[in-house]
Amino acid sequence: MVTLADQVNLVKMIKKVIKAGDALQRQIVPCPEEQEGRGIADFCQERDFFRGKFLIHKYPDRAVILATNQCFEYCRFCFRRNLWREPAWKIQKQDLKQIADYLRKHTEIKEIIISGGDPLALTNQELVELVKLADLVKPVKLIRIATRALTFCPARIDSGLVRIIKQSRKQIWFISHFNHPVELNSEAVQGIKKLKDTGVPLLNQTVLLRGVNAQVKILLALFRELSSLGVKPYYLFQCDPVPGAAHFATELSDSLGIYQELNKYSGIILPRFAFELPGYGKVSPGPGWRIKRKARHYEVMTPEGEKYQYPVNGKCIALIDYHTDFAPKALWSAVPAAPLLITPATSQREKAASLTPQSKASRLKAISKL
Ligand code: SF4
Repeated sequence: MVTLADQVNLVKMIKKVIKAGDALQRQIVPCPEEQEGRGIADFCQERDFFRGKFLIHKYPDRAVILATNQCFEYCRFCFRRNLWREPAWKIQKQDLKQIADYLRKHTEIKEIIISGGDPLALTNQELVELVKLADLVKPVKLIRIATRALTFCPARIDSGLVRIIKQSRKQIWFISHFNHPVELNSEAVQGIKKLKDTGVPLLNQTVLLRGVNAQVKILLALFRELSSLGVKPYYLFQCDPVPGAAHFATELSDSLGIYQELNKYSGIILPRFAFELPGYGKVSPGPGWRIKRKARHYEVMTPEGEKYQYPVNGKCIALIDYHTDFAPKALWSAVPAAPLLITPATSQREKAASLTPQSKASRLKAISKL
């Protein structure tokens, strides 16, 4: 006989499933907010660092290879969502030769990041060519494979892929991308286990998403679960407010507040928080950084005293001084929501363009350890 307690449990379970479904659905189903026209195109300013169509060399010791513009699912918050507009493409054998030439000339590149799109959207035969490329270029020591296959197509972790990992002469690191604990279902866990059996180190990156995971308890559950599966939470990224995805971006002060809370927990489960600072690059703020909320933007000051602007979404006002640790949350007061400030992209770009190659190089060196 079904008791009242059973009925209550059933309702709770159904609510949980609906909520979990929402978290996933919001990541991949288009919504009207995408049409709001907010956001900054090429927020990460990758365009300046393309070396040919498939290689991005932004930081001195590593380069990104865009293997394809195809994915298993298309995440609505993706900062490379502009790639979707192009007809489907995959890197071809003849492109690899050009990349190999560039890598041989740039011996400072010690690590290649195979990304995209999702590199596991390539067949194993295509992927093996990319891994071989790294094998052939002597200075390259590490290969990172960044994929969401574990979330959207765990069956892609097949015996062919396992063979590629085992046979690679260079160390491969796998970077998964889980944003919510609900993504860690039994199939994903199976995929993780298969990868772990190869001995490949596994790291995870998470994007902080408004309406999906921007809560300490959700992130803690995710990071704890990943760590218990042997996947190290590596980065927690601020969502880049590119056009069509700006509604996912949390207020920078909120993100820092969440990270402050997370910092109270075990270092093993804690990723680094990082955000893309236009004109500078990836920032993982620590001692010496100052972040101040101005009327229409955040002022971010580097330890060297250089000032940059970060856009505001609205809602909170905060003064966060990393010399003295975070400001207590109580200092934040609600202000009327303001439209996302579009930092004048041209002035940022002009600023970047006016840097001498030396100062650009030293800046990139300073942040290269990120
Ligand atoms: S799988 Fe990765 S590259 Fe593809 S849409 Fe999602 S975040 Fe972007």
